[in-house]
Amino acid sequence: MTYFREEIETMARDELDTLVDERIRYTVNFAADHSPFYRKWFHDNQINPADIQSHEDLRELPIISGKTVREKQPPETSKYEFKCIDWDQVYTIHETSGTSGTPKSFFLTWDDWNRYAEKYARSFVSQNFGKGDRVVVCASYGMNVGANTMTLAAQKIGMTIIPEGKCTFPVRIIRNYQPTGIVGSIFKLLRLARRMEKEGLDPQKSSIKRLIAGGESFAEESRTYLEEVWGVPVYNTYGSTEGTMCGECHKKMGLHVPEDLVHLDVYNPQLQNFVDEGECGRIVLTTLLPPGGKAGTLLLNYDTDDTTVVISREKCPCGRTHLRIMNPQREAETVWVSGSPFNRVDVEKGVFQPDNMQYITGEYEAFLYGDENEVTMRVSMECLDINNCNKEIIQENFLKSFLEYKPYLSEAHQDGTLNILFNFIEPNGLEFYKIKGRPKRLVDRR
Ligand SMILES: [Zn+2]
Repeated sequence: MTYFREEIETMARDELDTLVDERIRYTVNFAADHSPFYRKWFHDNQINPADIQSHEDLRELPIISGKTVREKQPPETSKYEFKCIDWDQVYTIHETSGTSGTPKSFFLTWDDWNRYAEKYARSFVSQNFGKGDRVVVCASYGMNVGANTMTLAAQKIGMTIIPEGKCTFPVRIIRNYQPTGIVGSIFKLLRLARRMEKEGLDPQKSSIKRLIAGGESFAEESRTYLEEVWGVPVYNTYGSTEGTMCGECHKKMGLHVPEDLVHLDVYNPQLQNFVDEGECGRIVLTTLLPPGGKAGTLLLNYDTDDTTVVISREKCPCGRTHLRIMNPQREAETVWVSGSPFNRVDVEKGVFQPDNMQYITGEYEAFLYGDENEVTMRVSMECLDINNCNKEIIQENFLKSFLEYKPYLSEAHQDGTLNILFNFIEPNGLEFYKIKGRPKRLVDRR
């Protein structure tokens, strides 16, 4: 199978744009008719839903954040104002916690499930997965949507799923069932490879043919290293319960956005307008419904708190025409030093320099201390063998990569307003190991 839904995935650009605008009109009308939040909003702002004709007009509608969703659900309000259907039409209920407080509630219909699953099915097929493949899913089967809808996607393409839900599964799973792929995060897949080696199974000689990385943004260097360790290609995915699922095809030239199912706009930092094509900005998503479709929870203009750049709207060498974006980064993982921003991924890039990897595991964490006059960043890296860890080379490689293309930070580093200190640690010695949950690798303690 080359495509899961060829006529849509390879649709000519002008036809695709027409289809998107058609779906925007239907979806906005559906929201105005069925969502208590949007019904009230159109009424209060005296805007006629029929005036929203194309994607450009979406700028007239409010930008919805995670905070808005929380403010429009119990206990803040008496009902779920983004819920568009009656209780008896709800198939599943989900929650996403994010980093702060009250979880956001999401209600899905069976239609929603099929659309989510279709996005994954297209992505799997674009990564050359198909009938006969056996995939271990390490993403969690909890209140979020990802792992569950991946499992449904597998059914649609005839693939076998091994629903482990985490990457700490016993190595015998690989020996006994000979899976051909694993879905996990970069670091979990690295740790799994080390565990396999310890138990005498060389990852490069295992049954695995491809890996899918998701759940967090990463540096290209860490992907390259993971590919070396396993000896197979690693494909990127970007998804969330709030609405999207973008997958990198086997050409690895950016993540394809399923444009007929989700509309992606890139906004400036003030969230007032779109950025110019090719500029970095905030990802704002709108779920699209096909005419006649229904959604349990509908978000138009949802601010993801992630940033990206549109790489191209031209046809990809894989034949798909849907637009491609760069690996999104989390805004919450961006810090400012000397008037210049950098992201956790920039630190990760410095760590995963190819010549470093004979000495370190790749596990790292960084802390920022100081005030507006002087900032110190302490980067801790885990050595494979603390007695045989070439610290000078690692530091040199890190600084060269980290300060490259960052003139303000480079200047601050030279004049001593930005100090970068290094700390080399034995395996399992990093601070985040002591804290439950997703590791926070760049912590601002200013
Ligand atoms: Zn492609």
